[in-house]
Amino acid sequence: MTTMFSTPKLCSYPECKAVAKKTWALLPLCYGHHDTIRLETLKYYANRMPYDHRQHYLQIARLIKRITPFYAQSVKKSDGVVKKTNEMPNRPIEALDFTIKTYAALKRNGINFENELRKKSYEEITSLRNIGRKSVEEIEETLGIEFKPAKEDAK
Ligand SMILES: [Zn+2]
Repeated sequence: MTTMFSTPKLCSYPECKAVAKKTWALLPLCYGHHDTIRLETLKYYANRMPYDHRQHYLQIARLIKRITPFYAQSVKKSDGVVKKTNEMPNRPIEALDFTIKTYAALKRNGINFENELRKKSYEEITSLRNIGRKSVEEIEETLGIEFKPAKEDAK
């Protein structure tokens, strides 16, 4: 009888050698570190816990940045204000400043990165479960975008 073993992935947390069982923004992590970072993030979104109290998260934030592709662009807002978004990575939604409600709803809808949001039309975003008007506004503000209707009126 033969059994195939694949090499287990190790936790990405600095100095941690435990086997990775979970991922956080595509980074493999052990149960312990995944849980600590998840809890820090929940606290952060619930009470706006200051960033420097998210010690475990900050340890891996640099790694998350490294694996996410960077792009540079300027976003022109409806009021004509050009918002510079140079060197903005395709950030995992964990790294964005969403409320816990919006964050949880996006996760439940299988959305993990900001570029998945940028691609959506207004109809698509509002058809997601638990994404109401407030969440849509929040996403638009956070990303500096405006969701456009799927079909333009043919003229
Ligand atoms: Zn670990």
